[in-house]
Amino acid sequence: MILTNKTHITLLVLYGMIGFLAIWGLASHSEVASGLPLAFWMVLGTVGAAGAMLEILLHIRTREALNQMKKQIQKMSEIAEVGLVMVEEQWPVEGLAGMLNEYLTLIRKKMNDLSRERKELNLLVQVADAEKHNTEAIVASSSDAVIVIDAFGELTLANRLAQELFGFKLPDSKNRPIEQIISESRLQAMLDTAQWKYREPVTFEYELKARTYVVTISPVYIQSDELWALTMILHDVTQERQLAQLKNDFVNHVSHELRTPLSSIKAYIELLVDGDIKTAEGRTDFYKIIQSEADRLDRFIENMLNLNRIESGLMSVEFAKLNLKDELRQAAALVEYLAREKSIILENNSFAEEISIHADRDLLRQVVLNLLSNAIKYTNPGGKVRLDAGVSEDRESYWISVEDTGIGIAADERDKIFEKFYRSSGGRSLSGGTGLGLALVKKVVEQIHGGTIEVQSDSGRGSKFILHLLVKPAESSSRSEIEQEAIAL
Ligand code: ADP
Repeated sequence: MILTNKTHITLLVLYGMIGFLAIWGLASHSEVASGLPLAFWMVLGTVGAAGAMLEILLHIRTREALNQMKKQIQKMSEIAEVGLVMVEEQWPVEGLAGMLNEYLTLIRKKMNDLSRERKELNLLVQVADAEKHNTEAIVASSSDAVIVIDAFGELTLANRLAQELFGFKLPDSKNRPIEQIISESRLQAMLDTAQWKYREPVTFEYELKARTYVVTISPVYIQSDELWALTMILHDVTQERQLAQLKNDFVNHVSHELRTPLSSIKAYIELLVDGDIKTAEGRTDFYKIIQSEADRLDRFIENMLNLNRIESGLMSVEFAKLNLKDELRQAAALVEYLAREKSIILENNSFAEEISIHADRDLLRQVVLNLLSNAIKYTNPGGKVRLDAGVSEDRESYWISVEDTGIGIAADERDKIFEKFYRSSGGRSLSGGTGLGLALVKKVVEQIHGGTIEVQSDSGRGSKFILHLLVKPAESSSRSEIEQEAIAL
């Protein structure tokens, strides 16, 4: 039981008064005092003195106990821990300490609960953080352009490819309306529509900056009905489309190039078999046409196979010591009949000096044949084709040139004629060809023999192809380049 200070003082005063009354009763000779027995006053005095002493003792013990409790509570608040209050002398504050301890136990339990909840929350925040980082890393590493916008149409996330494609920087553009970032009106419209119309991803093809993309816009829903975000992924399919187109073109070209000379050969043979050509001269003309068409077929297949071998790194190249003069003479002899047929003068000035070179005989011959037959093909009847060759002063390099007075090549087409299947507009109208000859020439000269090729041409006035080659090319380096290219392909 704890008494307040006021009660203590009141009780002390009361016991004091009783004591004084007892002293007065013992000391006074008044009628009232002497009327009562001495023992009464003695008992009264004892009660007063004992009560006062007891009261003082109680007060001291209560203060001590309360001080103890105060110190312990101060300590708890200093270390921010909740424990129990322990008092040595319990009796004056017994009830209070018990109640306080009950209360402190309750607080401790609540604090423990809160701390556990805080730990769980921290863990959840960490997991969410890690998931966010993972998502960002996945988006960043994607080989497609990825953009994420929230349900309000504002930019949330975009990877580097998307930023480059649409020309923005994520830190400056985050949380800005997407229409301020993407100026493409069709994409904007698709995003708008997807926001309120589609529940499933939509996919469509889109041309952007001369490239083709397959765009997929996917709505992301949380709790079934609430649109949370839209992701837009742009997958670049330009190369796939180009490859498919190339494949198509290749099949078309090859079948066309095979069919044209074949049908011509078939037609002439039928005429011969039917005996429609009565004169020997007529028949000889037909044989020549058949021979020329068969040569064309042969050249096409040879060019195609060699190009393929070079590109796949499977070309077996055999460098040998050759006499350039002999090689060029033989090549010129092979196309002489073509020139004669078109009344074209074929000049061979490459006999001037003996030049000994190292090259692959078959490939070099094919290069010269391709250049010569082109020169004849693209020169009108009555024109002139001239084959030339020479060696440098130090005899380390040599050149071969094929010049004609033909239709020439427009300036903007001079680089393109070396691409596979490329045929200039003038070339297409004048003669049937495959567009493979110069592609092969370039590969053989540059990749296999480490040389260069130069074209000089005046549209309508003729062309000149000049090959610059080393007398002793570095065989191994040219081979490994081819193999590297094959690996790259
Ligand atoms: P093609 O089988 O078509 O002749 P090429 O690869 O040999 O294939 O030549 C590619 C194109 O370059 C030809 O279609 C032609 O337009 C042009 N060309 C090549 N040589 C000449 C030349 N001497 N004069 C004019 N055009 C040429």
